[in-house]
Amino acid sequence: MIDIGVNLSNPRFAKDTQAVLTRAQQAGVEKLILTGTSIAESRAVSDLCAEYASQFNNMLFSTAGIHPHDAKEFTRSSINDLRELAAQRQVVALGEMGLDFNRNFSTPKAQEKAFEAQLELAAELRLPVFLHERDAADRQLQILKSYRDHLVDGVSHCFTGSKQALFGYLDLNLHIGVTGWISDDKRGESLQSLVHNIPLNRLMVETDAPYLLPKNMPKATAEKTAPPENTKSAKKVSRNEPAFLPFVIAAIAAHRSETKQEIAAATTANALRFFRLN
Ligand SMILES: [Zn+2]
Repeated sequence: MIDIGVNLSNPRFAKDTQAVLTRAQQAGVEKLILTGTSIAESRAVSDLCAEYASQFNNMLFSTAGIHPHDAKEFTRSSINDLRELAAQRQVVALGEMGLDFNRNFSTPKAQEKAFEAQLELAAELRLPVFLHERDAADRQLQILKSYRDHLVDGVSHCFTGSKQALFGYLDLNLHIGVTGWISDDKRGESLQSLVHNIPLNRLMVETDAPYLLPKNMPKATAEKTAPPENTKSAKKVSRNEPAFLPFVIAAIAAHRSETKQEIAAATTANALRFFRLN
């Protein structure tokens, strides 16, 4: 299994990174793609790959990009910074990048500027893109359409959108990343009914850890792996981690015709091909 979206630079992993990676390995999650969301975070995840490379051989890779929330920080020098990061062998994609009109932490105009600049860089460097989108499917699709011919590949990560958005991304020959969102019978209801439309060879899986703890996992399992600072207050047990990826796959399998094993095998092959990890 390959977890294509892990926020390992999140402070909630700072005290027990090694234990988290060991548990992932024991759970059969053989590779992780660590998500970069800003220049600083992209450097942080790339550094984590390097730091743990000898202990966890060929297991850790990362993306480098500027999340739409951070688009206001985007400057001329950002592209040079990303170019430098992309030259490192562990950096296998550009992103997160895209549009998020749900909360508009950066103005839509700033988001579009940062997004397009990163798409141009991805085209130039021939790197796949890791896409984020929330409440902005129409505009995101419009922009992607004009760049698609120049992009090697792209994945709409943590897809939670409408049927129209899903088919829009598939029409552009993009991949779809599914998280534990699908295990939430309330919030994930629409995704549960849509997931069978994703061709098996375009599907990838991600935990988005430490966020989105799968709802279909036994509470005791999450409690056992709570980060050290939370062990005293049992209430705060909600940290997701890569070792829980099998629960995401199980939740997907519940709404598709393939078995968990078939989904695990196909999404692994897809991620190896997409991020060119072979
Ligand atoms: Zn995202």
